[in-house]
Amino acid sequence: MEYRNVPTICTYCGTGCGLLLEVLDGQVVGTYPDYAHPVSEGHLCIKGWNAGAFVHHPDRLTKPLFRKGNDFVEVSWDEALERVAGELKRIRDQYGPDAIGLFGSAKATNEANYLMQKLARAVIGTNNIDHCARLCHAPSVAGLAMTFGSGAMTNSIPELENSRCILVTGSNTTEGHPIIGARIMRAKERGATLIVVDPRDIQLARFADFHLRQRPGTDVAWINGMIHVILREGLENKEFIATRTENFDALWEVVKEYPPERVEQITGIPADQLAAAARAYARAESAAIVYAMGITQHTTGTDNVVSLANLAMVTGQIGRPSTGVNPLRGQNNVQGACDVGALPNVYPGYQSVTDEKVRQKFLEAWGAAPPARAGFTVTEMVDLAGVGAIRALYIMGENPLLSDPNIHHAREALERIEFLVVQDIFLSETAQFAHVVLPAASFAETSGTFTATDRRVQLVRQAIPPIGESREDWQIICEIARRLGTPAGPYGKFDYAGTAEIMDEIAALTPIYGGISHRRLEELGFLQWPCRTPDDPGTPILHTEQFTRGLGRFQPVHYRDPAELTDKEYPFILTTGRVMFHWHTGTMTRRSPKLHKEVPEGYVEINPLDAERLQIGKSERIRLVSRRGAVETKAWITRRVAPGVVFMPFHFAEAAANVLTNAALDPVAKIPEYKVCAVRIEKITEVERPEKLVAARAGAS
Ligand code: SF4
Repeated sequence: MEYRNVPTICTYCGTGCGLLLEVLDGQVVGTYPDYAHPVSEGHLCIKGWNAGAFVHHPDRLTKPLFRKGNDFVEVSWDEALERVAGELKRIRDQYGPDAIGLFGSAKATNEANYLMQKLARAVIGTNNIDHCARLCHAPSVAGLAMTFGSGAMTNSIPELENSRCILVTGSNTTEGHPIIGARIMRAKERGATLIVVDPRDIQLARFADFHLRQRPGTDVAWINGMIHVILREGLENKEFIATRTENFDALWEVVKEYPPERVEQITGIPADQLAAAARAYARAESAAIVYAMGITQHTTGTDNVVSLANLAMVTGQIGRPSTGVNPLRGQNNVQGACDVGALPNVYPGYQSVTDEKVRQKFLEAWGAAPPARAGFTVTEMVDLAGVGAIRALYIMGENPLLSDPNIHHAREALERIEFLVVQDIFLSETAQFAHVVLPAASFAETSGTFTATDRRVQLVRQAIPPIGESREDWQIICEIARRLGTPAGPYGKFDYAGTAEIMDEIAALTPIYGGISHRRLEELGFLQWPCRTPDDPGTPILHTEQFTRGLGRFQPVHYRDPAELTDKEYPFILTTGRVMFHWHTGTMTRRSPKLHKEVPEGYVEINPLDAERLQIGKSERIRLVSRRGAVETKAWITRRVAPGVVFMPFHFAEAAANVLTNAALDPVAKIPEYKVCAVRIEKITEVERPEKLVAARAGAS
């Protein structure tokens, strides 16, 4: 009998908690918190405690599959890899490299994502590589780069506990990132002022000094309103503005149009509360802004992010401990997948694909590089697949058929595509449309690194060998690349002894990761980028002396309405989000018995006043209809939502919120507007309930 505890990193959210996988005779039998971990310090949320529960699930893919009619047949790895390489080669040769698109994965390691974008760029010859960051924090990457020069969380998670004021907006932190939520609660216990700006009465709101309940989609207005109050009352940090920023004059020109009284009309936030919250934030010795997808998933996502950056700069609440602008990244490695270049506009380390010098650098290193123009985003690639411009998609560990907005449209596109290969651990909704399915190893069966939301790079350790015939992502990508033919540059090979060697290559080509190696991570536990040289201790706080771009740039923006407003036909605003027990498309959490038991099915939150008016009873099944589709689900009558607003979690395929959501995009970051769309609520009549009809007929006969 062999028993081991293997330290690794949680596979769910971007907090990056440390856990120990308990292994007995090659089976993961338990999960325990890592007491030595600097962020989680011996704590895990319910998902972390159950992180190993899906690993041995009978649904795991264990052999490569070919589609045969409406079914799949098992094939050998050789057959599968030959077919994938053969089809990609055929399509590239016939239609050009840009007829192929690749999806990296925010769940996979940095090493696998680096290889995926290298496969796209150096082997296939396209910048068509993207991943689900597009659907969560692309506006953070774009907006913070425009204002600060670097699109990542500015401070570190543990610092939150010492903040004197925390402004949380668009983040249901105690459910989405529970261990960070606990840090915020501890700050509150220590006397910090807590400001929560959220349309829902989330748990943190109950402990907040200010809960400002805005109408969904009106964030620019309330942020401009706070800046208006700060400037009108002389609460700005004049020295910081004078020495560290530029374009300040343009700011007042815009925010002067947002007195709190006007903001109240737009947002519904009482003017006096907005003003009081603005004063508390500006006067605090240290104030941190924490936000998540409630800020980014809008057609104004980038505007929302730059507005928060304006607020931090005008008060000088940045560049010091326990301050800053802190986007909480969703997936365990969405930060890392961006860092290592699984994006269509940048090489690893955010080096622009349109910069000819950068292109030359990678051309010399790999021996091949695509033309200096940005590739397509995930949503664009799916659209282009629908019209035949993208003929092949290679998707690693992502599930666009549940995560894309307006999923009927995504389904039609994937039904039409000439060749779809999906590499995953389960037969996801997307994999069911694939021509070839490649079985991948889970986080427990692979090694490499994840980068947490606070730029913290940490080692992921292999606890057990891959299940069945599944293989590690990085090995599968190498096999496909070698079959396609690899370029001749000094870093052109796809032949590595292990993931440590891949990280050495990343470090050599990615200045912000220049000092990161598996050996150092083993020694130090973690390193936060930028970490440029082998003796660089890393950077817990960004922008301390100067911003990454030199001077911070104010980017004032005016409020714009969401893309879809309510009307007579669709009188409710639908907003979407997470619950504590599930993760994104539910592929793993719904196969974890304890998590599934807690929340086994989808639902929609409806305010009691609306429920009464529509005569909807507790747990009644109802239909939600938007301009794009309809879903049936259960009503949860609760004051967590305001009248006129309904909320659905997005984890449930059978009540998929994204059947309803709007695919309208933010013009800069190309993120869809998941957080606001117009819907109506319909009662389901008795006649429509087939099970009742059957029961009634059975009773009558
Ligand atoms: Fe895992 Fe996130 Fe929970 Fe930590 S907070 S245990 S990383 S899901």
